[in-house]
Amino acid sequence: MFDEKVTALLNEQINKEFYSAYLYLNMSNYFERRGLDGFANWYRIQAQEERDHAMLFYQYMQNNDLVVTLDAIAKPDKVFNCDMDVFQAGLAHEQFVTASINTIYAAAYEVHDFRTMQMLDWFVKEQGEEETNARDLISKYELFGSDAKGLYMLNQELAARVYSAPSLVL
Ligand code: MG
Repeated sequence: MFDEKVTALLNEQINKEFYSAYLYLNMSNYFERRGLDGFANWYRIQAQEERDHAMLFYQYMQNNDLVVTLDAIAKPDKVFNCDMDVFQAGLAHEQFVTASINTIYAAAYEVHDFRTMQMLDWFVKEQGEEETNARDLISKYELFGSDAKGLYMLNQELAARVYSAPSLVL
């Protein structure tokens, strides 16, 4: 039997991951308007990964015969006045998601829900990578972003990012 609190947190996480996708799509939108297609590509793929995360939680609940309730996805209402605003918001958001995953983990741990803990292990690792990526963007932009040639090269680098499906198979 699944714990009520764990179930509710898993269900909330579906919404949080879809919101993440929406947030990153809005960041992609910001860079499209800036004419930085490489940055826009990077955030569009990021949005795609977040949809995958949402679907993994959805699938996990379905696999365990848990009732999924889909809620409204909040409007991404952050205003970006400069590129750095986007990178900072990305890092802050990933730290928020890490805390959220940790909360589910702690709840599962409390009731000895080892199955959920094992599934979440992938997300714990993933969040470490997401935070690293967000920090890398900040430091690269600090180093190269203020110079036109550097920005061009950075845009080219981010243009090369390609989508790959999540390695977690449920
Ligand atoms: Mg995610």
